[in-house]
Amino acid sequence: MDAHTCLGEPRLLISHEALRHNAGVLRAAVGDSVRICAILKADAYGHGAAAVARTLARGRLADALAVANLDEASALPEVGLPVIVFRPVENVYVGRQRNQLEEAIERGWTLTICSAAAAGDVARLALARGKRATVQVKIDTGMSRSGVDDIEAKEVIEAVSQQPSLRLGGLCTHFACADELDDVATAEQFRRFCEVTDGWVDANRTGRRPIRHAANTAGMLLHPDMHLDMVRPGLGLYGIDPMGPATGRQLKPVMKWVAPLLMVRTVRKGTSVGYGLTWTAPRDTRLGLVPVGYADGYMRSYSNRAKVIVNGVAAAVVGRVSMDLITVELGSVPSAQQGDEVTLLKDDPASPASAYALAELGGTIPYEIFCRIGSRVHRVAVDEVAAEAPERAVG
Ligand SMILES: *Cc1c(COP(=O)(O)O)cnc(C)c1O
Repeated sequence: MDAHTCLGEPRLLISHEALRHNAGVLRAAVGDSVRICAILKADAYGHGAAAVARTLARGRLADALAVANLDEASALPEVGLPVIVFRPVENVYVGRQRNQLEEAIERGWTLTICSAAAAGDVARLALARGKRATVQVKIDTGMSRSGVDDIEAKEVIEAVSQQPSLRLGGLCTHFACADELDDVATAEQFRRFCEVTDGWVDANRTGRRPIRHAANTAGMLLHPDMHLDMVRPGLGLYGIDPMGPATGRQLKPVMKWVAPLLMVRTVRKGTSVGYGLTWTAPRDTRLGLVPVGYADGYMRSYSNRAKVIVNGVAAAVVGRVSMDLITVELGSVPSAQQGDEVTLLKDDPASPASAYALAELGGTIPYEIFCRIGSRVHRVAVDEVAAEAPERAVG
């Protein structure tokens, strides 16, 4: 998206500079010998996976990319990095998944396997195409979500290693409580993972160790002893600390969400606003209209609670958030006028409009705040925006 074509529209400004910075912070946390697999699922947590992939590849800031499913893998640009698909392969012969798997095998993506049957299915598909498919075995060590349980894991790993058309690209698990300090569950998961995989590495006929990985952002930051061969940061890359804003880590939020003040009007004391007339002006004041609503991911639960930033000053969202519009009270911002930029989500962890603050208000986590931001909001690289001459709507 060209930054100019959507000037004056709701936009997500993506700072590739901040992305590079965060990748550097994460690299420093693991050192040079541990690989970094950047998590780009859900359109890079709403940041735009294609642009994020290019920036990471260009700066050699990641060693691999991971996405949730095959559609997301297909949508990635070819940037010369290995691609891992997290969703476990099952139901190979059902519908379009088979065509997608053939594409995955052609393009060398790493597929996730949690059963011997799935290993056999992928092996047959690869064989039929004269290819070798790369797979990783996901082991459930206590989260009880996806993965083969640690008792059957050896069988599945064996099944993979016996198929000439499969290459064992990795062994992995996922922590349930990595963001909790001093947490016994994570230590136990790690112990179980090592118990299964250490043994197998010794018995490995090829003599090559498959890479092992377990840690997401919280896991890699809080548990330096659990980095193994690779870490899998998502949230941290986008500049958010899974343990909250107060930890003092030098992560910079990558995303800033802005929209124009569509209209400014003066209303009298006693005027009520929005569906249900849930807010009434306590004095004569000015109201601003912003073309963003819950359809864009600006949650209805922010009604009468959230703050936006206008000309550097916090302004309250008043009345209900509707599908496509919100109203803000501009009593605190006398300078505000039509066309000014309103910041709905600020790239400053301490702002009342930070991802942390909005998550708190919405009863959720920053991950969900990002993923909800809809496709009507144009994603643009802030570096492009910075290059523009400042413009102001004539009003
Ligand atoms: C989403 C995901 C991650 C990244 O988690 P963050 O908390 O965002 O760092 C890592 N591994 C797996 C398997 C995931 O699904």
